Amino acid sequence: MEIKLYNTATRKLENFRPTGEVVKIYTCGPTVYSEPHIGNFAAYAYWDLLVRTLKANGLKVKRVLNLTDVGHLVSDGDTGEDKLEKGAAREGLSVWEVAERYTKIYLDSYAKMEFLPADVVARATDYIKEDIEAVDLMTAHGFTYETSDGVYFDTSKFAKYADFARLDVSGLQAGARIEFSNEKRNATDFAVWKFIKPGEKHAMRWDYLGRPGYPGWHLECATIIHKELGEPIDIHTGGIDHIPVHHTNEIAETFAAYGKNLARFWLHCGFITIDGQKISKSLGNIYSLSDLEARGFLPMDYKMWLISGHYQGTRNFTFDSLAAAKQRRLNWRNRIAECYQNSAAKTDSQVFNKILVAMNNNLNSAEACAIIEQSELTLSDWKKVDKLFGLRLVADTPDVDASAYDLLRERAAAREKKDFVRSDRIRDDLSARGITIKDTPAGAIWQYAD
Ligand code: AMP
Ligand code: ZN
Repeated sequence: MEIKLYNTATRKLENFRPTGEVVKIYTCGPTVYSEPHIGNFAAYAYWDLLVRTLKANGLKVKRVLNLTDVGHLVSDGDTGEDKLEKGAAREGLSVWEVAERYTKIYLDSYAKMEFLPADVVARATDYIKEDIEAVDLMTAHGFTYETSDGVYFDTSKFAKYADFARLDVSGLQAGARIEFSNEKRNATDFAVWKFIKPGEKHAMRWDYLGRPGYPGWHLECATIIHKELGEPIDIHTGGIDHIPVHHTNEIAETFAAYGKNLARFWLHCGFITIDGQKISKSLGNIYSLSDLEARGFLPMDYKMWLISGHYQGTRNFTFDSLAAAKQRRLNWRNRIAECYQNSAAKTDSQVFNKILVAMNNNLNSAEACAIIEQSELTLSDWKKVDKLFGLRLVADTPDVDASAYDLLRERAAAREKKDFVRSDRIRDDLSARGITIKDTPAGAIWQYAD
């Protein structure tokens, strides 16, 4: 089947064809220094959908996810505190403990969201040797210069620097002039390695060029990809905010160190707003998965909410729309319950193919959901939908056991005899097991209540 993906590199919808036996995918992962909020899960949900869609097409995938545990400063540039140091100061822990703590929280949350585990989960601090080798290569190839606070990438040496993000470099240069008093040669230059000044508090440190320092944030992705996947990879994914700085710099570093193009396809997802506003501490609208659970929503309900929209859109989150997603998931589960009760509905229909065609069209999950709403699916179709979306629809909707079926038959017999006292008692017994009964013109059917 044809798979089309929107490629940020060309700003076009393109046919995706793997070049090797395995589709090589890299996802820029989280900086493990604070509690993730629901916006942070959007990207991972959509990239999980990407992997599942490729697999549904019979493709093999190798996916690498990094965890940034060093080097990401509060600004995405080269200024401000290191995020891990900030987390450590806030929590009275060491930076290593902070990284450990939030790595666990992130990985547990991914499991709760039923994301397929990445094939390699790469911690930035495990790739310092590779980082140093890469800086040496970039320097040997004439792409770097040293300042008093680090080794910088000279972006004027990479002719295509502005291409990926369609950057207006001269505009940036002019805009930056006012604050452009440091030793950077160009506004877009960035640190590939930072030096730690005497007295500066930075617990994570490695010796390089005869002094302590640590890698610049963008470097880890270039070196992890080089080591774990090899360039060019098939698909590189991230948030839309990564385009102008982070991904642009990854591309430059890869070219400078290894002389290679980093990725063939670049996919970026849009941002989640809450009640029409950006997610931020000052607006007090930061929700974690646990906050949603405290309000009676499962991580799967939130995933349903994400899947109901398109990965490239800006999505506005409200609790009303989350309640609608929760209801949609329950409706789908109860359609599965009906399949159990309909012995004819066991084989495949053609519906799953249509769903996959929608997903193959640039991961159009909103369209796939619409097809599901409008079509009859068999149990076999639902099992495939579950594998495609990872929504635990079938797992959370088991067929009832023989004793429940006995009760259902008893109730039908009681109703036939107009023994409503008995039939109501059976209804209550079943309800205590989470099974509700709906009387339809075709007879009684059971459903799961929330
Ligand atoms: P942060 O830790 O806040 O820098 O976020 C890490 C990454 O999560 C960002 O680079 C984004 O790609 C993603 N992200 C953060 N906030 C949102 C949001 N509201 N919607 C979607 N993605 C987000
Ligand atoms: Zn990255």
